[in-house]
Order: sequence, then C-alpha cells, then structure tokens
Amino acid sequence: MEYDYVIIGGGIVGLTTAWKLASKNPRFRIAVLEKESALASHQTGHNSGVIHSGIYYTPGSLKARNCIEGYRQLLSFCQEENIPYEICGKLIVATGKEQLTQLDELYKKGLANGLRQIKPLGSSEIKDYEPHVSGLAALWVPYTGIVDYTAVSEKIAVKFRELGGSIFLSSKVTALKEKGNTIEVITPDKTFLTKFYINTAGLYSDRIALLSGKRLSVRIIPFRGEYYTLHENRKGLVKNLIYPVPNPDFPFLGVHFTRTIKGTVEAGPNAVFAFRREGYRTWDISLPELAWSLSWKGFRQVMAKYLRMGLAEYYRSFFKYAFVRELQKLIPEITANDLIPGGSGVRAQACTDTGKLADDFIVLENKKGMDILNAPSPAATASLAIGDYIATMCCKQVVT
Ligand SMILES: Cc1cc2nc3c(=O)[nH]c(=O)nc-3n(C[C@H](O)[C@H](O)[C@H](O)COP(=O)(O)OP(=O)(O)OC[C@H]3O[C@@H](n4cnc5c(N)ncnc54)[C@H](O)[C@@H]3O)c2cc1C
Repeated sequence: MEYDYVIIGGGIVGLTTAWKLASKNPRFRIAVLEKESALASHQTGHNSGVIHSGIYYTPGSLKARNCIEGYRQLLSFCQEENIPYEICGKLIVATGKEQLTQLDELYKKGLANGLRQIKPLGSSEIKDYEPHVSGLAALWVPYTGIVDYTAVSEKIAVKFRELGGSIFLSSKVTALKEKGNTIEVITPDKTFLTKFYINTAGLYSDRIALLSGKRLSVRIIPFRGEYYTLHENRKGLVKNLIYPVPNPDFPFLGVHFTRTIKGTVEAGPNAVFAFRREGYRTWDISLPELAWSLSWKGFRQVMAKYLRMGLAEYYRSFFKYAFVRELQKLIPEITANDLIPGGSGVRAQACTDTGKLADDFIVLENKKGMDILNAPSPAATASLAIGDYIATMCCKQVVT
C-alpha cells in the first residue's frame, strides 16, 4: 500500500486529477480512495448536467480560465470516447427591469471571456428560441450544452486504470498521520502510505484538510438544490435550457429549466441550507454536522446577511406553489400539475471566517499535500482543466 500520490475523493475532480497525473508520468503510483461503493456518488452524480460556457465568471479568474479550457477539453473527450453530449444553447432571460443592467453586464463578461457568438435578444425575439418563454430581454448563449457527468467520470476512471492507477471504493479516510517523509492515509480497513496526498473530498474537503493539521479560514457549508421534473406530456414547454438573470449577490444561478441528455426536463435547483452534508431530503439531519456549521462564525455572518433570501428559498422548498410562481416568471403557462418531485444535489460551498461565500476555487498546499476546498459549479464542466492544473502543481512534489 505504498504510493506516490493518494487522492481522497472519487468525484469528477479527484478522477480527472488522478488521470492527468498518471498521464504526466506513468511511473507514478497513484491511488484514489472513495468512501462510497460507487464513483461520482455525490455532487458529480447529482448535478444539472450542464456544460457551462463560462459566461458568468470574472474574466481572468480561476473559474473563468478553467471553465473555458475545461469546456474545450470536455467536448474533445466526449467525442473521442463516444460519450453522448449536445451543444443545445441556452437563454438567460430578464423578467424584471432591474435585471436589464445585469443582463448587459453578463453580455460584456461573455465577450471578455471570448464568447463571440452570444447574442442579445429583444422581447419579441425570445419566442424564436423558446416559444413559451416571456421576458423583457434575453441573451442567447449558443455554446452551452448537456452531458451526463457520471458517464464522463466512469470513462475517466477507465482511462486512469488503463495507465496503471488504482481505485479503492468503500474506503473512507478517517485519519492522516505524518510518518517521516511520508503520510499515512488511514481507512478502517487499510493504511495507505504516500509521499503526497490530494484532497478532493467535496462536501468533506474541510474535514480532510483539518485531519492533516492545517489551520483553515474556511468551512464547507452544504446547500441543497432541489428539482422538479416536468411531466412527459409537458416537456414541450422547454426546448433547451432557460435560465433567469442570476442575483449577483448570491453564488447560485436561480431556478431554471434544463433539458437533460437522458431526455427529461428538470426545473430547479433552488439553494437551501442543508442540515446534513449529504442530506438529499428535507428532513435529513445530522446534529453534529448542523452544530459544526452553526458554530462557524463565518456561517453565522452569512446567515445574518442572507436571512431574507434564505427564508424565501425555504418557503419555496416547502410550498410547491411558491416554487411554481418563481418558474412562471420564465414560463407563465406552467402549473403545479406539470411538475413532479425530482431529485436533489448538495453543493459544497466554502464559507470564509469573514462571512463570505467563496466564489473562486480555493487551493491550499504544503510539502505533504494539497487540499481543494472550493470546487463549486462549473467544476464539473471545468474538471479536466482543474485536473490539469492540480496535476501540474503536484507532479513536482514526487521524484520517481
Ligand atoms: C445541485 C447541483 C447542480 C450542479 N450543476 C452543475 C452543472 O450543471 N454543471 C457543472 O459544471 N457543475 C455543476 N455543479 C457543480 C459540480 O457538480 C461540482 O462542482 C463537482 O461535481 C465537484 O466535484 P468534486 O469531485 O469536487 O466533488 P464530489 O463529486 O462531491 O466528489 C467528492 C467525493 O469525495 C468523497 N469523499 C468525501 N469524504 C471522503 C472521505 N473521508 N474518504 C474518501 N472519500 C471521501 C465523496 O464520497 C465524493 O464521492 C452542480 C452541483 C450541484 C450540487
């Protein structure tokens, strides 16, 4: 059980990192440890399946650069490996006058990020793209697409194994101990000795970083996103992807309509604080995890800052009619009868000790390991670029 690199977490970020590291040097002995019995069991397997274009992100930020490069790599990967995907485009729709400036800002950001074919639309042109949508203005983003990220992850795992990499499922990391120049990565069954660890544990990435003895100025706060699925006979209301103009003060995109690569149409996700990190249902509660979140001063500040917004999200979560009212801003003819409860996902959102919801990726590094502490959306889109970035930074740590 001796390795050059042990990667903790078998989501899409851990897997791309593993594959990219193995591609850089086939002599590296690399293991991925995943606590569940299947890969991509959490964020990666519970997301909207959207291939983001990069329009939302501050030009030059890690998010923007990785999203645009990751988009390019993801499309090539899907083509080479015959993974179904579709570039169907999306509409971002302004439904209130106060959103028009923000829509214009998005247009400028998109151009600055190199998305030359995005197109501003007037109210009447919206119907040419989405006949059932009404709005004051919109932005057509032809680059956006859809894919199944579990399928992508599974294929990456195959490529990694082909290069000699090892994946251990049902292997929950419970402790990290320094032993001379190496680290012991301890699971209930086995101890893995490694020269360097990489923490891509998503919702538990802060816990793993703390196991390594690092002092952290962020904690992961879980935000659940709940979906409804459109009835089969009402799927025609949505041709492709329809998004609202996001609230610039909130790191989430607002409830939207997504056609998935499997052929369903989903409405959501909202963003409610989850009482458990892997709490996919409303009443999934872990008292120790809830106490841990509440004891973080940064989270208490976030709660105070976003109280109204947070309560509104809970209201929409509990009362379907309120969720529907939000959706009707985009498609006025949609009704509660058109929607059946769908799945959910939980976002690992880093929150700083000064009460900020971190926007960009956060990477901590020392001689023994690297921790990825914020890999929110669009990290699935960006994963191949993020994997490259982490592998490039880490591959100098071990001499084979
Ligand atoms: C509702 C929702 C919608 C989203 N929509 C999109 C989208 O449309 N497009 C997009 O690009 N992005 C989207 N995202 C974001 C994207 O899914 C995530 O950014 C990405 O999946 C993060 O991948 P990851 O590998 O970091 O985390 P994860 O997929 O969560 O993987 C972390 C893994 O670590 C494992 N782990 C945790 N603790 C331990 C331990 N102690 N020992 C061993 N293993 C451990 C977990 O079991 C898990 O498998 C969405 C996210 C959510 C939640």
